Amino acid sequence: MALVSRTPFVGGNWKMNLTHARAVELARAIDAINSASGNRSVDWAVFPPFVHLGAVAATLGERSHVGAQDCSAHSDGAFTGQVSASMLAEIGCTSVLIGHSERRHGLAESDALLSRKLTRALDASLIPILCVGETLLQRDSGDAHAIIQSQLRGSLAGHDELALTQLIVAYEPVWAIGTGRTATPDDAAHMHRTVRQTLEDLYSARFAQRVRVIYGGSVNAKNAAELFSCEEIDGGLIGGASLNATDFGAIMTAAAARVGQ
Ligand code: PEP
Repeated sequence: MALVSRTPFVGGNWKMNLTHARAVELARAIDAINSASGNRSVDWAVFPPFVHLGAVAATLGERSHVGAQDCSAHSDGAFTGQVSASMLAEIGCTSVLIGHSERRHGLAESDALLSRKLTRALDASLIPILCVGETLLQRDSGDAHAIIQSQLRGSLAGHDELALTQLIVAYEPVWAIGTGRTATPDDAAHMHRTVRQTLEDLYSARFAQRVRVIYGGSVNAKNAAELFSCEEIDGGLIGGASLNATDFGAIMTAAAARVGQ
């Protein structure tokens, strides 16, 4: 019997990459690889740039595996350049990244703002993937665990357990994103335990055990299996390696192997 009862989740964050044609081609290739593998034990989604979302959702059809990289903290109105969560749901998105480090750190998005984005995502019935992670400076200062706790507490403020049944938390150390430097499985698992303990402190042990906590930061086809073999690591958020269908397929296969552990 499988030891792990949480269904693994693998997300492919395409960031600001790919032409329209290449995005559709990549979606098709990933879908084909996944269908050929016959693997149904992993939840997965790709996160294309906004302008490609509709076409990728149409390509992937009914089994929409498409998410957005961000959403507005507002529901509608005079917010030039922003995209609302309900607009994303309307074109076939089922999930959304909230607080990816390239926004949290790169664009100084605060926990309070992320909490409001979370509200909008939940209102639109999108699965929220809340990203947390410490910088290298914070890690070297011994503050990594406190930072993760504080980001979780701040971003989840005002949200109750019942509304968060679909929540996924992505632990993504900033120093590992796009750097080729990955957290060791032990290190990542330790941080994931902090995430789960914080969720337990905020809500309940039952809730904390149900939430999927995935790892992101230079995961690739070679290191995925070792990371996903840790009981605490319920899958991954993949940047660079998700732009290659074969690699992304191999990462999904590594996540599927977890189910048989
Ligand atoms: C990411 O974008 O969330 C990410 C983890 O990127 P990479 O896999 O390239 O480090």
